[in-house]
Amino acid sequence: MPLEVLIAGGGIGGIAAALRLAEEGHNVELFEQAPSFSEAGAGIQLSPNCTSVLHHLGLESALQEKAFLPEGTQIRDWKSGKLISESALGDTAVRQFGFPYYHIHRGDLLALMVDAASGISNIRLHTDSRIESFTEQEGTVKILINGEASKGDLLIGADGIHSTIRASLWGEEKPNFTGNIAWRALVPSAKLPEGLIRPVSTVWWGPGKHFVHYFVRRGEMVNCVCVVEKTGWEVESWTERGDYEELKSDFHGWHPDIQTLIDSADRDSLYKWALYDRPPMKTWGKGRVTLLGDACHPTLPFMAQGAAMAIEDGAVLAACLKHRADVPTALQQYEDLRRERTARIQKGSRRNATIFHMSGIKAWARNLVARKATSSAMDGLYGYNALEATSFLE
Ligand SMILES: Cc1cc2nc3c(=O)[nH]c(=O)nc-3n(C[C@H](O)[C@H](O)[C@H](O)COP(=O)(O)OP(=O)(O)OC[C@H]3O[C@@H](n4cnc5c(N)ncnc54)[C@H](O)[C@@H]3O)c2cc1C
Repeated sequence: MPLEVLIAGGGIGGIAAALRLAEEGHNVELFEQAPSFSEAGAGIQLSPNCTSVLHHLGLESALQEKAFLPEGTQIRDWKSGKLISESALGDTAVRQFGFPYYHIHRGDLLALMVDAASGISNIRLHTDSRIESFTEQEGTVKILINGEASKGDLLIGADGIHSTIRASLWGEEKPNFTGNIAWRALVPSAKLPEGLIRPVSTVWWGPGKHFVHYFVRRGEMVNCVCVVEKTGWEVESWTERGDYEELKSDFHGWHPDIQTLIDSADRDSLYKWALYDRPPMKTWGKGRVTLLGDACHPTLPFMAQGAAMAIEDGAVLAACLKHRADVPTALQQYEDLRRERTARIQKGSRRNATIFHMSGIKAWARNLVARKATSSAMDGLYGYNALEATSFLE
């Protein structure tokens, strides 16, 4: 029997869940508070553990059209530029994990997902629709949007790190400032000397800072994410303009390639925001209401896994509902299948902040370990396939 599914939030997690649930025949109503579906600037890395789901949803050709396929990853020293370690992606990732690794502009990703959802008759997308509250009664969840009531069989809170649904379930609790701020910048590739940027995702490790860059838009732009330990400025907004002089001074003394990137950045594309997180939750949902993505496991970007986890969530949730005895049991099973993996990634991402920013003898020892690390270290992360992992439910 198809369910009437209500989703709060039209970010990557909410839309991915809508697509997967609709594929199982459910009727999905998704409510996004913003006037339109949009993802601010910046690029995003999509690893095989989530591209398996996106390909399953029929998005392969749209992704191939918009994304960049990196050949690998490299870690470099902030000052000398010396290679610390590298691993292969490209065809190797496909051979090893079954699916590609993509770099894509966030706006392009969300647009292609919304485009797919708009063409599906059992998905109804609503913008300008903030879910203010909900109540659960007699096998139904009632929600209030802009003063108007609506109801369904279950509610999924995919409403991000400041989730209203989470706060209604468990009480208001503010996320923690991590002591890191992130800059983002887009650099037109045509402005850069030929060959300066390799077709790989590069992380430069430095004391108290790191700098990540990779191609998006099939190589037309370079996306930069530059993280700096800094206190005293704790605005969490994707739309807070950054100042070129401040970015330049944050990376003063870094390798000439980094200077060239900063100098060539599109000044209108400079933004900065404070990075917040929350510890893993012990319990996500109650009864017919559950959480998904950043609403239950906000994840720092230092493993590039937050959106990947949200996409995996949607696939597992759909599988649990397909084989449900009843809705609350299926939601509990979903949570039980997801809590440990997502908590591990949350903690690993936080740990990476410390590792990336080491200095002195600690950095020297870290580099030795990193040089010896094998690509099989990523097997458990990238090799996870949410569709296969839930096949035991069949
Ligand atoms: C600098 C940076 C780089 C990153 N890089 C990567 C990466 O390379 N790879 C990766 O996998 N992840 C990455 N992440 C993490 C990733 O961006 C997030 O984990 C992911 O976007 C979370 O998606 P979501 O749908 O759960 O939440 P969100 O994207 O926050 O979406 C929530 C949506 O809910 C809406 N909403 C909120 N409240 C309500 C309400 N009451 N009613 C209706 N709508 C509501 C919001 O407007 C929003 O559209 C990065 C994060 C950062 C900060």
